[in-house]
Amino acid sequence: MSELSAALDALVTANRIVANEDVCDSYGHVSIRHPDNPDRYLLSYSRAPSLVEVADIVTFELDGTPVDLGDRTPYSERAIHGAIYEARPDVNVVIHNHSYEVIPFAVTDVKMRPVTHTCAPIGADIPVWDMREKFGETNHLVVTMEQGRDLAATLGDRSISLMKRHGCVVAGRSVQETVMKAIYLQVNAKLQLQAMQIGTPDYLTDTEIAACTDMQQSPISLDRAWEAWCRRAERAK
Ligand code: MN
Repeated sequence: MSELSAALDALVTANRIVANEDVCDSYGHVSIRHPDNPDRYLLSYSRAPSLVEVADIVTFELDGTPVDLGDRTPYSERAIHGAIYEARPDVNVVIHNHSYEVIPFAVTDVKMRPVTHTCAPIGADIPVWDMREKFGETNHLVVTMEQGRDLAATLGDRSISLMKRHGCVVAGRSVQETVMKAIYLQVNAKLQLQAMQIGTPDYLTDTEIAACTDMQQSPISLDRAWEAWCRRAERAK
C-alpha cells in the first residue's frame, strides 16, 4: 500500500471511529496532512463522518482551495484544518467536533482539566477560543482563513482548544493519537461534570499529566484501544 493509500484508509477509519464513539455528530470532520505534500491536506467533501469513504476524500491547499473537488460541496469550515496545518508543522491530523459533553465547558468559565489518568493526553492547559472577540456576532462557523488563523493562534503549541458556543478542535501527530485525544476529551468532560456534581475535583497535577500521557500514548495503551475502536466501527485495524 502506498503512503497515500494508507493515509486515505486511515482517514476513513478515523472518521468512522469518531462517529461511532459519538464524538462527531454529522457536522464534525477529520483531516490528515497529505503524506506527499505538506502544503496540502486530505478531507472529505461535505459528508457526515459516519458515511465517509475513500472516494469522498478531497485534496486541499492549505488556504482551502480544493485540488480535485469536482462538482462536490466542501465543508464550509475547512479553514480550521488549513490554518492549523499552516501554523503547526508538527501536526498531521486535525479533528473538529461539537461533542455534546464538551460544549458545557465551552460556554462557561469552568476550565477543563484531566480528572483521571486515561484522560491525561488532553493536556494540562485547554484554552477556549471565542470567535466573538475578534469577529463580533457571527453564525459561529469558521469560514475564512483569518478566522482559522485566529483559532490556531489560541491553540498555540497545544493539542486541544475549545471553541466557545461551538465545539472544539483536536490536533496531533498521528491518527491514533489524535483520535484518542478527541475521545478522551469527551470522556473527561463527562467525568469532570459528574465529579463537580458531588464535590470539588482533585485534578491530576502537571507532573502526573506528563507521566500518564507518556503511558497512554505508548503502543501498549494506544494499540489496545485502537483495536477495540476499529472493531466497534467495523474497520480493519
Ligand atoms: Mn463546527
